[in-house]
Amino acid sequence: VGRFFMEHLNLVAGCFVPSTRDGAALDLYEVPSRRIGASRLLSKHGRADLRISERLQRERRLLNASATFARLWTHPSHASEGYLAMKQLFEGWSEGRSDGLWEHLQKAVRDVDNVAAALYWKLFDREKPLPLMDFRVQVEQEPNPLSRVRLGAERDRFGMPRVELDWRLTDNDLRTLRETARIIAVECGATGAGRLQILLPADDGALSAMVGGAWHHMGTTRMHPDPRQGVVDANCRVHGTANLFIAGSSVFPAVGHAHPTLTIAALAMRLADHVKGVLS
Ligand SMILES: Cc1cc2nc3c(=O)[nH]c(=O)nc-3n(C[C@H](O)[C@H](O)[C@H](O)COP(=O)(O)OP(=O)(O)OC[C@H]3O[C@@H](n4cnc5c(N)ncnc54)[C@H](O)[C@@H]3O)c2cc1C
Repeated sequence: VGRFFMEHLNLVAGCFVPSTRDGAALDLYEVPSRRIGASRLLSKHGRADLRISERLQRERRLLNASATFARLWTHPSHASEGYLAMKQLFEGWSEGRSDGLWEHLQKAVRDVDNVAAALYWKLFDREKPLPLMDFRVQVEQEPNPLSRVRLGAERDRFGMPRVELDWRLTDNDLRTLRETARIIAVECGATGAGRLQILLPADDGALSAMVGGAWHHMGTTRMHPDPRQGVVDANCRVHGTANLFIAGSSVFPAVGHAHPTLTIAALAMRLADHVKGVLS
């Protein structure tokens, strides 16, 4: 119990510049933002995730993964050191403060490219979607007994031990993330959809630190016919017990890349039928 904790690796892996300003070629794979409104995109044709072909996936021995695009409304330069320093410079100046002004000015001058880009977007393209999109990838995590949840020594206010999570990624998880992004980037260029700049650090440690999850907690009571290798049997019954069953994504022996809840619901309905059969 508690081993094989899996999540979906989820992160912005790059920046996409569509070849047309409205990015229509990839509409189907665009996650609607609040500002565009779900209706504009979903009323047309629903929404899909982008995947690499099964043939290529097998050939490269990759795990499952999918990708989506999300329109950016704030130019990345608005978060740059130079632009933030310039804002502080003007704020300080307008409030008659002199502390730190010289330092802010130096930072703004050193980062003049970003200051210019930020001002341009603010003055001329405000309130329009930028011709830039976040490229987000969601990757399957492979089963790994060392990735686990344990009970910690610390207790919560009800006196129950708090959980400790030791989430571990494998080389294969990170390789799938990098390769999937690279293959989709090459295809975006080859098909003329646009240019995808991958923004992943070369170092695996740094990449692991960047990876987030998707609130999909899975695998810690995995299904396996052998009690030494899993917690529940094929009917979700806990090995070694007569009438204890588990419904939830913790029984998944492997997790794919897709969101888990439809599979959880399907398994729960199957379990309900099974328990009904046992009781009658
Ligand atoms: C922000 C967020 C977004 C998500 N988005 C998606 C998505 O888009 N698609 C998707 O497929 N999945 C999504 N998920 C995951 C999805 O919510 C879960 O996979 C799903 O809810 C799990 O269902 P469950 O019935 O196993 O557990 P839960 O939905 O967590 O249900 C467990 C229930 O047990 C109750 N409970 C706990 N302890 C006790 C106790 N001691 N006594 C009595 N009751 C107890 C809880 O109150 C809860 O009602 C998301 C999760 C989060 C947090």
